[in-house]
Order: sequence, then structure tokens, then C-alpha cells
Amino acid sequence: MRTQDYKMLIGGEWLSAESGEYFQSINPYNQEEWARVPRADAADVNAAVKAAHEAFTIGPWSKMIPSERGALLRKLGDLIAQNVKELATLETRDNGKLYAEMSAQVGYIPQWYYYFGGLADKIEGMVHPTDKPDMFNYSRHEPYGVVAAITAWNSPLLLAAYKLAPALAAGNTVVLKPSEHASCSTLQFARLFEQAGFPAGVVNVITGYGSEMGDDLTGHPQVSKISFTGSEATGRHINEIAGGDFKSTTLELGGKSPNIVFADANLDNAANGVIAGILAASGQTCVAGSRLLLQDSIYDAFLERVMTIARDAKLGDPMLPDTNIGPVASKDQYDKINRCLEMAMAEGANCILGGPADKNPEAGQGLFIQPTIFTNVSNNMHIAQEEVFGPVLSVIRFKDEKEAIEIANDTRYGLAAGIWSQNMKRCLELPAKIKAGTVWVNTYRVVSYMTPFGGYKVSGTGKENGIEAIKQYLQMKSVWLSTAETSSNPFLIR
Ligand code: NDP
Repeated sequence: MRTQDYKMLIGGEWLSAESGEYFQSINPYNQEEWARVPRADAADVNAAVKAAHEAFTIGPWSKMIPSERGALLRKLGDLIAQNVKELATLETRDNGKLYAEMSAQVGYIPQWYYYFGGLADKIEGMVHPTDKPDMFNYSRHEPYGVVAAITAWNSPLLLAAYKLAPALAAGNTVVLKPSEHASCSTLQFARLFEQAGFPAGVVNVITGYGSEMGDDLTGHPQVSKISFTGSEATGRHINEIAGGDFKSTTLELGGKSPNIVFADANLDNAANGVIAGILAASGQTCVAGSRLLLQDSIYDAFLERVMTIARDAKLGDPMLPDTNIGPVASKDQYDKINRCLEMAMAEGANCILGGPADKNPEAGQGLFIQPTIFTNVSNNMHIAQEEVFGPVLSVIRFKDEKEAIEIANDTRYGLAAGIWSQNMKRCLELPAKIKAGTVWVNTYRVVSYMTPFGGYKVSGTGKENGIEAIKQYLQMKSVWLSTAETSSNPFLIR
């Protein structure tokens, strides 16, 4: 395939990096270079933030009424819907996830722009009752200004929608930075902003190595809000930079989510849910149900069901409709997963399916990780505490509900959890006892533009999606207005 050169969108212009440097985009399925992406540095970051700041302060965006912003967002949603095939193909080529999943996902993304487009002109302030005579007090919501939106490689356009749709509806401008491992779909998507009619500079897309230019972006004095999806380590780092200047942040980080199966569950449904939770997207999802908590009395029988499905999973070309598991996204990710598997075995976990590539002659060529299941796992092991971000399941036994809750909560993460049971009382009471931002009961991995999503504990701060999300991109101002005809003693202002 001919290598394609992409450009960045800065201030309405399509630009290479000022340095002229590029980096490669590698297709994880065949490991061929297929595109070159601009390698931005501080100068490009500065240009993008300047363009966003001007668009916010003096451009037509700053004078647009909210309904006009909403109409642009809805037009953008229409354009995404017309370009699903192209955008989904780019995502698959970039990150190796199944085309079947990416096309469904990209096909769903317009809903974010429709929903938040609809909210743009429904941001209402409030008149407050006051104890002060002759005073009128109201509050209004105002955008922050320039938002730095930083996304991970596993679902670049969906994660961008989580951020862009509410940020723009609220009246901010954006500098968007996708991951170095999957930048192309975002650069292609950026063309739709022009087509939709967004003024220049409202959305800017820069690409590069986060380790090189990330701090220039998050630490830029004209960036007022940071919305980040990625690892705990980078999230901590960004939090420190943001904290230094008291910038607002929304952080969506990692997870080590428990999928808890009780003996009274519908076991067929539960087995499908467990597989969907850990093998979908080759386990490269923040909400992966990577710890299977299994009740004693069904341990062997249920594990056999899960093994049967996992054993039959077809690894292969992510573009083909009958492939179940594609490659992992990059060589770095592949090596990291293999190191986790080696460590689990060294810690004494029992590998009953799959395993590290060098111990698995069936793994063949490419960045494929076989579905891997560990038993004999205790919850304090590395494999039960650290995010693997691969198709790797750790199975942990529990005897009763109390023990299940203890194990489920015994992690520094708190992104999501699954509960499988047909006991109504348990299904109603248990979610309140699980320390996670999302709890699924008799289902797994469901998300919606209408429903708040975000982590507890080190899985992050703030919420994306739903009405709550727009508040992440607004700050509240209180206005006092005196109606008194005479002013009082200047030394005793009330
Ligand atoms: P990283 O933290 O490595 O990268 C995420 C993004 O941050 C990338 O765009 C990266 O750029 C950028 N970045 C890296 N360093 C900096 C920096 N100093 N300043 C600013 N930006 C920087 O995460 P991964 O790409 O490995 O993504 C996987 C992680 O994302 C997992 O932990 C997963 O759980 C989490 N995730 C969380 C979700 C959630 O909603 N909670 C959803 C999806 C994923 P570059 O790629 O160039 O390094």
C-alpha cells in the first residue's frame, strides 16, 4: 500500500509540523507502515492553542448564539453518519480492532453530536433567592476557553466525541491530540469540521508523541481545561501539571474491573458477558472485566463454559466479519502484555488457556495474543491488581456475597463492575456496595451518550456523557446587582 502523508488542522489550515518531521503509522495486523503523521513540537502546539484562543475570544464562534452552535454540531453528526465506512476502516487500520466493532461504534458517534447539539441552547442559569434587600443575584454558566482534549488509541473517535461534543456545545474551543498509535482517523475526521461550517480555529488537531509535546499542551497558559483519556500514569502526570495552575480537569483512566458471577446467575448469559467483557477488542478497553470473581459452587462448571467459548475464538484479519479477535494495537502493547503474562506465571498463577507468545507455538505471526485465562490467582497478585489491557482473564474464587464485595473493592481502581445473579434483592442492593463509577447487572460494556460515565478512585475524576458532562466544560459565575436608589455607608458594604 502506498504510504499516505497526513496533515494537521491548525487555525483552519492543513499543515505539516513546522520542523517538517513525521512519524509512521503502522497497521498492527500486517505491521506495515501505511501512513506518515506530522510530529508536532512546542511550536505547533503554540500555534494550535493560539488559533483556538483567538477563535474563542475574537472569532465568529465567540459571537454565535447557542442555537447556531447546536446546529453546527448536528450537521457534524450528519457528516459522520455519511462517512462511517471510511472512518471505521481507518480506525481498524490504525489500532487493529475489528471492523465490525469500529463500524458499529462510528455509526453510533453521531448521537453524541446530536445530543449535545440539542443541549447547546439549554444551558440555563439561575436567579437565587437572597437575604439582602434591594439586591438581585443570579448565576450564569460560562465556557472555560481553550480545552485540551487528549485521547487514547483504543477508540479515538468515540473518545473524541465524549469530549468535543459537550466542550463545543458549551462554547469552548478545542485543541485535540490523538494517540501516536492511532492518529489518522482523527485527522480524517477533522475534515468534517470544515464541511460542517465550523469557523477556523474552533477545533484544531495536532499529532505527535505525547512524551515530547504533551506538557507543552497541558501546561500552555492559554489552555484552561484539560480533558484526558488514557493511563493512570499519564493521568497523574497531567494532574500535577494542571494542579500547578489550578486548571480544571476531567480524567478518564484505567481499570481492573471485577465481573462477579453468583451461583444463581443465568450461566449462559453470564458466560457471554464474561467473554464480551474480556475478549472484545482483544481486552483493550478501559472497562475490561479482567477479574472474574466466581462463586465456589459453580467454579468448575462455569469456568468450563467460558473456556469453551474462548478456545473457539477466531484470531485473524480484523477486517473480516468472522474474525473474533484482532491483533493488539502496537508492538509496545504486545510486549507489555507478554511481560504481564510472564509475571503472572512467576507469581504462581496457573495458566489454563493461552499464555505468553514464546510458550505458545499456535500464536503464529503478528501481534496476536491468545485468549488467556489464569486460575489460582489471589487478589493481591500483580495480574489481579495491574491493568493488562489485553485478552487476559484472572479467575478468583469467592464463597459468599460479603467476600465477593471485599475482593471486588480491593483494588485502587474503580471504573466499572459486573454482577450476574437472578436474585432481585441482590441485584438491587449490591451496586451500592461496589466502589465503581459504573455497575452493570446481568449485562456488560453498555454505554450511552445519555448516561454519565467515569471512574471512582484512581480511575479518574469527572464524568463524560449525559447532561452532567456539559457541566465539566462550564464554570459558574455569580452576579450581584443592586437596585437600591441610595448607596449605603462605603465602609459597611453588605
Ligand atoms: P497513555 O496514557 O499512554 O496515552 C493516552 C494519551 O495521552 C495519548 O494521546 C498519549 O500520546 C498522551 N500522552 C502521553 N504523555 C502525555 C503527556 N505528558 N501529556 C499529555 N498527553 C500525553 O494511554 P494509552 O494510550 O496507553 O491508553 C490506554 C489507557 O487508556 C489504559 O489505561 C485505559 O484504561 C485508558 N482508557 C481509559 C478510558 C476511560 O474512559 N476511562 C477509555 C479508554 C482507555 P502518545 O500516544 O503519543 O503517547
